[in-house]
Amino acid sequence: MSARRDPLRFDLAVVGGGAAGVAAALGAAACGAKVALIEAYGFLGGTATVAGVQAYCGFHTRGSRPQQVVAGVGQQALDALQALGHDVTPRPQSSGNWIILLDPERLKRALDGLVLAARVEPLLHCRAVAVQAQGGRIDSLLCADPQGLFEVRAAQWVDATGNANLAALAWPERMRPRRQAATLTARLSGLDTACAYDRDDLRRAALDYEQRTGTPLARANGGYFVPLPWSDACWAMMVDVELADASTQSLTQAEMQARAIAHDYLLSLRRCVPGFAHARLDVTGPALGVRATWHIGSQQDALLDDLLHARRHLDGIARSGWPGELHPRAGVTEYRPIAGDDWFHVRYGALQPDAHGNLWLAGSSIGADDAAFGSVRVMGCAFATGHAAGVAAALSSFACRAPLQAVQQALIEQGALL
Ligand SMILES: Cc1cc2nc3c(=O)[nH]c(=O)nc-3n(C[C@H](O)[C@H](O)[C@H](O)COP(=O)(O)OP(=O)(O)OC[C@H]3O[C@@H](n4cnc5c(N)ncnc54)[C@H](O)[C@@H]3O)c2cc1C
Repeated sequence: MSARRDPLRFDLAVVGGGAAGVAAALGAAACGAKVALIEAYGFLGGTATVAGVQAYCGFHTRGSRPQQVVAGVGQQALDALQALGHDVTPRPQSSGNWIILLDPERLKRALDGLVLAARVEPLLHCRAVAVQAQGGRIDSLLCADPQGLFEVRAAQWVDATGNANLAALAWPERMRPRRQAATLTARLSGLDTACAYDRDDLRRAALDYEQRTGTPLARANGGYFVPLPWSDACWAMMVDVELADASTQSLTQAEMQARAIAHDYLLSLRRCVPGFAHARLDVTGPALGVRATWHIGSQQDALLDDLLHARRHLDGIARSGWPGELHPRAGVTEYRPIAGDDWFHVRYGALQPDAHGNLWLAGSSIGADDAAFGSVRVMGCAFATGHAAGVAAALSSFACRAPLQAVQQALIEQGALL
C-alpha cells in the first residue's frame, strides 16, 4: 500500500489529540518546533470528548488539603475552559479524591483555540495506520483520511494515542497485553435534581436489571453518577464490559453489547431511583472508553514502589498525584493509595521506549507497571507527561535524545511543576 499525495513534513508529529497529545504539541511548539497534531476523530480532547469522560482527575493530590501537582499546558487548558465560562473549581469526591468537571463541548472549543494560537497544525479525521521504522527509529507514517492515504515525515514522534498504538504499529512484537475493563459512559438528563437517592436505590436498580434481563449488571453497586451542576443531567459510568483486544471484531462486539445494556438499564433506573423517573439517555460515549489493551516497556517504567512510597527522583519530569485506580475486571475497581496522599515522580525514561530512538511516549502510553499505570493514566497526569514528551522531542536532535537538565529547565520555564 502506498500514498498518492506529497508527504507532509514536520519537525515533530504527535499522534493522538487527547490531554497528552495537546500538551505535547503545545510544549513542542513553545520550543520553536513545527508540529503536526494527528487525531482520528474530528475534535480534540481524547477520552474526555471521544468517550465522554467528564472529569479531569490528577490535577490535585487526594485528601483534605489537596495540592495542585499539574500546571504548564494543563493549566493553560483549565484557563481556556474558564475563559469560556466553565467552572474549573476542583470538587471533592466521597473517595477523598478531587476532580474537575468537564463540559465536552466547551473542552473541544477550548483546545481548538489553544492549538491554533500556538501555530500547531491540527490534522483531524486523520488516522495513523502504518509506520516505516528501522531499529528504534521511525522514519515516516502512513495516515488515512476519507480521501485515501498520505505520508507524514518528521524527525521526532510522540505516541499520545492513549494505548501506545503508534509504538504498536512500529514494533508489534514488543507489545505486552494489559487487560483493563472498558466502560461505556453516558449522560442522562431529565433528572429531578431536588430528589435525593443513595447507594441502596442504585443497588436496587442493578438487581431489577438482573431480574428483568437474567444477566447481572457488571457494576453490582449500580454505577457511578456525577451530577453536572449546570444542567438537569448527570455523567454516568454504569456499563462495564470485557474487551479482549483492540481489534475491530472485539470493539464492535463490546460497543454493541454495552449500548444494549445502557438502554436496558435506564428502565431499571427509572423504576428504582428517586429523581430518575423521567431520565433520558442523551448520549453514550460517543465511543467505548478503552483504558488499555496492551503496552510497551520503557527505559524507566513508573512503578508501584514509586507510588507506595511517594518517591521523588532527580530525573523526575512530571508529578502523579492520583492513586493507582485499577479495573482488572468488568465492574471491579481497586485503589492503591499513594503514601501520605502525596505525589510521586514520573521519570524521564518512562517516556522513552528506547535509549536512542526518536519515539516518545506520552499520557497513558508511557512505560508503567499495572499499578502505577492506574495512577499515571488519568488526564491530569497525561497533560504533564505529554508536556514533557513534547518538550523533550523538540529539544532532541537526530543523533541523540535531549539531555534531562535541558528538558527540566524548559518545562519549568513553561510553567510545569516538576
Ligand atoms: C471509561 C474511562 C473512564 C475514565 N475516567 C477518568 C476520569 O474520570 N478522569 C481522568 O482524568 N481520567 C479518566 N480515565 C483515564 C483517561 O481518560 C485516559 O487514561 C487519558 O485520557 C489518557 O490521555 P491520553 O491523552 O494519553 O489519551 P486519550 O485521551 O485516550 O487520547 C488519545 C487520542 O488518540 C487518538 N488516536 C488513537 N489512535 C490513533 C491513531 N492511530 N491515529 C490517530 N489518532 C489516534 C484517539 O482518537 C484519542 O483522541 C478514564 C478512562 C476510561 C477509559
